[in-house]
Parts: sequence; structure tokens; C-alpha cells
Amino acid sequence: MFTKKILSLILFLGLFLSLSCVKRDPVLQSKSTMKAVEKTTRKVLRTSQEWRKRLTPKQFHILREKGTERAFSGKYWNEKKSGVYHCAACGAPLFESVHKFKSGTGWPSFYRPVHPKAVAVKGDTSLGVRREEILCARCDGHLGHVFDDGPEPTGLRYCVNSESLSLQTQPLIAPSDAGPARRPYEKKSIKKPRR
Ligand SMILES: [Zn+2]
Repeated sequence: MFTKKILSLILFLGLFLSLSCVKRDPVLQSKSTMKAVEKTTRKVLRTSQEWRKRLTPKQFHILREKGTERAFSGKYWNEKKSGVYHCAACGAPLFESVHKFKSGTGWPSFYRPVHPKAVAVKGDTSLGVRREEILCARCDGHLGHVFDDGPEPTGLRYCVNSESLSLQTQPLIAPSDAGPARRPYEKKSIKKPRR
């Protein structure tokens, strides 16, 4: 009986703590976003040759050869449209515009990925200093680096190459006959009719 009471107390405390954590972070991802990302975490593995065929030379250099675009040269460093930034190589959702912030670095910067599992982090000492490389968790495409000088609530700055991203903007008004507006990655795939 006594152990039962202790157990329920622990459960109650756990619930209370998790709820208070939720309260602290105002920009939590919606359940549907989390589900959509979890569906797309299956690995996409392709050879270098296959990636070369699918990507532009610039994208290939950055995503597959860990290149870096020049600051202020990419298409998204100053992008203000709302939507979801997908991986330019495999299409996995990576970042959301609500988490984008003005970093002044000349690269699109986010304080968190769309989902903790969307982006993988790997130690990188290629420039003689230790940095944390960020990769698309689905296809291992190089995105950029993450630094610990970002804004609250995470204090992180995900510094990403525009070439690694593809922004899918959300329509502000849903077409009247198309039902409720969906986020781009929630669309069900429509099979093409056979010819
Ligand atoms: Zn990818």
C-alpha cells in the first residue's frame, strides 16, 4: 500500500515536471508536425553518382561534399516568408520559419529544428577547431553547423546553407473547394495515372 502511494506520487511529480517544461517553451511543434517528421525519418541512401544526378552542382558540393556557401549569397538568409524548410536533397522537413531569427551572419539561422530527430549532430574538426556539424538525419546531407550563441529558449544557433534547403510556403487562405489547408508535407501522395 505504502509503495503504491509512493509510486503515484512519483507519477504525479513526473507529470507535473513534464507539464511545467511544456509551459516554459511557447513555440512547441504541433502534434501533426511531429507525426509528419517521424514518418520521414526513414533513411534515404544513395550513391554519390545518384546524388549528382539529382542535385545542382552547387547543392551537391554543399550537401554531399560539406561545402559552405558565401555569407549573404544564399536565397534564404533574409527570407521572411512563413513555411517549412525541407532538405533540398531528400525533402525531409528540417526547420520552420517560426524558429528562424535574424542572426546577422548571412546564413539562414534557426534556434531549433522542426523535430529533435530531424537533424543529426556530429563533431567536426576540419578547420582545426571543434565545431558541431548538422546533417539531415534522413539522407546525411550536410546542412551547416550548430553553435551555442543562439537566442532563447534553446540558446542554440543552427547556421544552415540556403542551398541545403527548400522552403515550402503555406497558403494563407485555403482554396474553398479543397478542404482545410494542410501543411505541404502533410499532403497525401497522389498516384499519377498510368499512361
Ligand atoms: Zn535530407
